[in-house]
Amino acid sequence: MASDAEARARALSSALAALDAEAGRQAAIHMSACVRCGLCGQSCHIYRSEPTPANLPASKVEAVASFHRRRHTFLGRHAPRLVGARDLGPRELESLVETVFGRCTGCGRCSLHCSIGLDVSAIIRAARRVLTKAGLTPDGLRRTVRTQIETGNQMAVTPEELRETAAWISDELAGETGHEGARVPVDEAGSRVLYLVNPREIKFFPLSLQAAAGVFYAAGESWTLSTRTCDVTNYGFYAVDDSAAAELTRRVLEEADRLGASEVVLSECGHGFRSFRWEGPGWLGERPRIPFRSVLERMDAWLAEDRIPIDPARNAAVTTLHDPCNLVRWGGISEPQRNVLRKICARFVEMTPNRADNFCCGGGGGMLSMEEFGERRVRSGSIKAEQIRATGARVVACPCHNCADQLLEITRVHGLDVEIRAVVEILYDVIDWRRVRGQTLRS
Ligand code: SF4
Ligand code: SF4
Repeated sequence: MASDAEARARALSSALAALDAEAGRQAAIHMSACVRCGLCGQSCHIYRSEPTPANLPASKVEAVASFHRRRHTFLGRHAPRLVGARDLGPRELESLVETVFGRCTGCGRCSLHCSIGLDVSAIIRAARRVLTKAGLTPDGLRRTVRTQIETGNQMAVTPEELRETAAWISDELAGETGHEGARVPVDEAGSRVLYLVNPREIKFFPLSLQAAAGVFYAAGESWTLSTRTCDVTNYGFYAVDDSAAAELTRRVLEEADRLGASEVVLSECGHGFRSFRWEGPGWLGERPRIPFRSVLERMDAWLAEDRIPIDPARNAAVTTLHDPCNLVRWGGISEPQRNVLRKICARFVEMTPNRADNFCCGGGGGMLSMEEFGERRVRSGSIKAEQIRATGARVVACPCHNCADQLLEITRVHGLDVEIRAVVEILYDVIDWRRVRGQTLRS
C-alpha cells in the first residue's frame, strides 16, 4: 500500500499535469483578465452572507489563476512575487479544494455583474476538474458519482424498489383521480417519452412522481420510466468528472433507443437540464439523436394546446417562484414555468430579483452532497430566504429537486412558514378530472 507521502506526491503530480492541460482551454484566457475592481462581491450569495475576503469572487479567481500564472506566463516563471504567482504544493491543493468546492456553487451570478464579463464559474470548474483528476474531490461528492455509475442512479434505487413504488403510486393515482388508466408505466417499450426523475422522488417524495404521472395521463402522453436509467441528475457534472458525466448521458440515450422512445423528458432539475441539454453534446462529442426537454416545457405546451383541463380556482395561495441557476441563468428556461404558473395560480408574485438575475439558493454546485461545507451552505441561503420573505408568498414553486432540498432546510432555519412545491405538483392539484379524457396521443 502507498504511504501518505507517496499518495500526496502522486496527487500533486496529477494535479500539475491537469493544470497544464487546462492552459489550452477557454478558462485560461479568463484567468489573466480580472481587473480587481471588486464589483462582483455583492453579486455573490456566499460573500454577502459571509463577507470575508476568501469569499469574494475575485479572490476565488485569483486562488486558481495564481498557480496557472506561475507555470504559464513569462513573468510568473521569472518574477513570481512581482505578479503574485504561486507554486502549487500539497497545502495549496487542500485550500484549493475548499475554495472551489466549498466557497462557490458555480451559479454564475457574479459574471453577470462583472465589469468585464469574466466567466468566474468556468475558472472554478477548471480547478474542480484539476482536483478531480488528482483524486481530491470531496468524499461525499465522489461517493455520489461512484454510486450513480455503479447502480445507475445517485440513491442506489433498485429495479424492484422502482417497480414497487410505481405500483403503489399507480393504485393511489387511480383511486384519487377516478381514472383506472392513470398509472406509472415502467420499462414499457414503444413509449414516446422516456421520463427521468430525481431518485429522491422515488425514495422520499413520491407525491411528486404521482403528480407527474397524473399530468402525463391527463395530457394523453405516452411515457415510461426505466429501471436501467431513471436518474435526471448527473453528479459527474458537479465533480467536473467529464468521463463519468459522459457515461451517464450515453446510458440514457442507449436506453431511449432500446425502448424506442423519441424524446427524453426531464423532471424538474436545474443541473440535470443543463447537463443533458447543453453539456451532453460536448461530453459525447456529438449531438444526441433525440431531444431532451424539461417537463416544464412539456407542461407549457400541453396547457397552450388545451390538452389538460384545469380549474385554477382550486389554488388560491399566494405563490412565488424560485429560479434555479442551472435551469434559468445557464439553461435559458425562464418562461415555460411562468406561463404554467400564471395559468394555474390565482395569485402569482415574482421574487426580486428574478430570472437570470436571481440569487442562488446556496444548494447548487453539489453542495448538498458535501457535509463539510454544510454550515456555509445554510448560511448562504439567508439571501434566498429574505427574497422569499419579501414576497409574502405561502407557496414557493421550485422547479428543481436539488434546490427544493436546500429551500426546505433554509426556510425552516430562517423561520419561514412556506410550502416548497414542484410546478408539476401545483398543476396536478388543479386538474379537473371530470373533464380528462384519458386518451393516449402519440404525436
Ligand atoms: S459563481 Fe456564484 S457562488 Fe461562485 S463566486 Fe460567482 S456568485 Fe459566488
Ligand atoms: S467584477 Fe470581474 S473584473 Fe472586477 S474584481 Fe470581480 S471578477 Fe474581477
